[in-house]
Amino acid sequence: MDTLHCPGDPDNLYEQTICEVLNTASFLDLPEHLRLILAQPKNEVMVHFPVQMDDGSWKLMKGYRVQHNNVAGPYKGGIRYHGDVKLDEVKSLAVLMTLKCALMQLPYGGAKGALKIHPRDFSSNELMRMTRRFVAALGDNIGPDYDIPAPDVGTNAQIMAWMADTYINLKGNHGRVDAQSVVTGKPLVFGGSEGREKATGQGLVFVLETLLPGLGIDLAHCSYSLIGFGNVGSWTGRLLQDRGAALTHVMDHTGAISNPDGISARALADHVKKTGGVSGFSDAAPCSTEDFYRAPVDLLIPAALEQMIGPDEAALVNCRLLAEAANAPTTPAGERVLTERGIEVLPAILCNCGGVTVSYFEWKQNRDSESWTEEDVDRKLHEMISDAAHRVHDFAASHSCSMRRAAYAVALRHLEELYTLRGIFP
Ligand code: GLU
Repeated sequence: MDTLHCPGDPDNLYEQTICEVLNTASFLDLPEHLRLILAQPKNEVMVHFPVQMDDGSWKLMKGYRVQHNNVAGPYKGGIRYHGDVKLDEVKSLAVLMTLKCALMQLPYGGAKGALKIHPRDFSSNELMRMTRRFVAALGDNIGPDYDIPAPDVGTNAQIMAWMADTYINLKGNHGRVDAQSVVTGKPLVFGGSEGREKATGQGLVFVLETLLPGLGIDLAHCSYSLIGFGNVGSWTGRLLQDRGAALTHVMDHTGAISNPDGISARALADHVKKTGGVSGFSDAAPCSTEDFYRAPVDLLIPAALEQMIGPDEAALVNCRLLAEAANAPTTPAGERVLTERGIEVLPAILCNCGGVTVSYFEWKQNRDSESWTEEDVDRKLHEMISDAAHRVHDFAASHSCSMRRAAYAVALRHLEELYTLRGIFP
């Protein structure tokens, strides 16, 4: 690891992510130069810029854009707004984007960005000013053929609209008509795609529909718990409700709630819209964090932040399957405990790749001046994601390895093929 410049700290998210990637590369016997290339991002951009608050005071903002790899095409990945974000976290998420796009065989590499703010602390006007200034500070580091941001934790379609508008004002007005394809996840009336807002949850549901029968779990009659009720958690809840699954426990930053008879994800989404969190929802009782983890359910779906399921949580959980809707929610130590306890883990790069896949559809529609129907989007997403789920499942079965190892291996094989064909410049 030293020659690969890893930080040497087992709790560090980048080390956790890249170790699993490199271990899978060794398992596949990938050439040394490929491991070296993948061990660090190609570019790490950090920017600082001032923004005026509504009360006239000034704040200095810190923004990141990490571009991990672009052998398959332009860099692609979300931008999150979160107050605790660190460079190593953004680097890890960029690596996962490279793998996600490679697994889905999208014509993209991997990137991730962040602005170090708690978005709830700012007015809409302040968020608009900092978003515009962030895009200006990133300059030529983003572009429709170079690096294409999208929503992530703490960002949404409105923020993407401000990003695209800023980019068009700075760069696009005398040039290409499809300059709005510089970001995806935009509002529908401004170059967005049908089905993009629900896409990550929809992708997860398609993965579950593909793989659960083989694991002996009946989606229509199963129970599940959710960590996080933002875009991914609430859409997963709404779509699973339509398929008959019972949501019995939910936990977010405001607390945990339970109802053994099932929580209506639609009613809970309305409550969260009004109050900002799941706590206080009238049709469920409050429960402790420990009771949340101990709850007997068929599926546990972490749909919030990274590193939520460590060894302590893994020892408590009482589920048959953990499906990672968030990026990197399970630590390697947590995963070892889950494996010892016979709990299967479906990895994030498969479970949550619906978001970037529909981002690709949006980018393609912008470039071709087309608008697809929701049925078109869902059909193409289903086709691509069930194919990827089968490829991962078949690799795991034929190599007797975990689904995470299999997903990373399928993605790395695709990158290896590209590097072999393209060679390395000069
Ligand atoms: N932020 C999402 C992810 O982590 C979506 C990325 C995209 O659409 O480019 O996959």
